[in-house]
Amino acid sequence: MIDTALHEVPARKGRAAELRQGQHIKMINTHGTQVIDMWALNAADLIEIMSMRHTKSCLKKMIPDEGEPFYTNRRRPILTWIEDRSPGVHDVVLPACDKWRYIWDGYEGFHDSCGNNLEESLRAIRRGPPPETPQPLNLWMNCPIREDGRIDYIAPVTEPGDYAVFRAEMDCIVVMSACPYDLGMPINGDDGIPKAVHYQVW
Ligand SMILES: [Zn+2]
Repeated sequence: MIDTALHEVPARKGRAAELRQGQHIKMINTHGTQVIDMWALNAADLIEIMSMRHTKSCLKKMIPDEGEPFYTNRRRPILTWIEDRSPGVHDVVLPACDKWRYIWDGYEGFHDSCGNNLEESLRAIRRGPPPETPQPLNLWMNCPIREDGRIDYIAPVTEPGDYAVFRAEMDCIVVMSACPYDLGMPINGDDGIPKAVHYQVW
């Protein structure tokens, strides 16, 4: 059945979508400036995951262009980047925020995190959790590497409604986290307020 309904990923939270091979998923930066941490896992074996490291190695470049796949840790295509309707600024270097990140930041008590959102999203569909938080594709995260090797954390350059479309190359689970980081750096925009995003599957 074709389901093109618009689904929400609430601000600070995550969602999982189960895709059959050949299906598409569209991630929409509804309000602009919101980073989505995104993972893809082989639905038949959650140990096989979309890997930024292996994708760089397979393609001999930092990030796929439209029409090129992301690869798994077994060097098999899992998602092809079909369309990137945005300025094309994404991060494929940094890890997801997780509870350890917020402890490291000195935050006291529970803070939503992309790592926790991955676990909760997989639990919600009775899968997972994974043994650790794999490195995600950080859609729209703007962390340029400077000439001296330092990394800047600056606001996304996306506009409301910018989107990205991917096609599943195997049956897979795509997990999206509307990154809840809000502790000073403008990762999710200069106002520092995490916002909801939306997605469609067909
Ligand atoms: Zn995050």
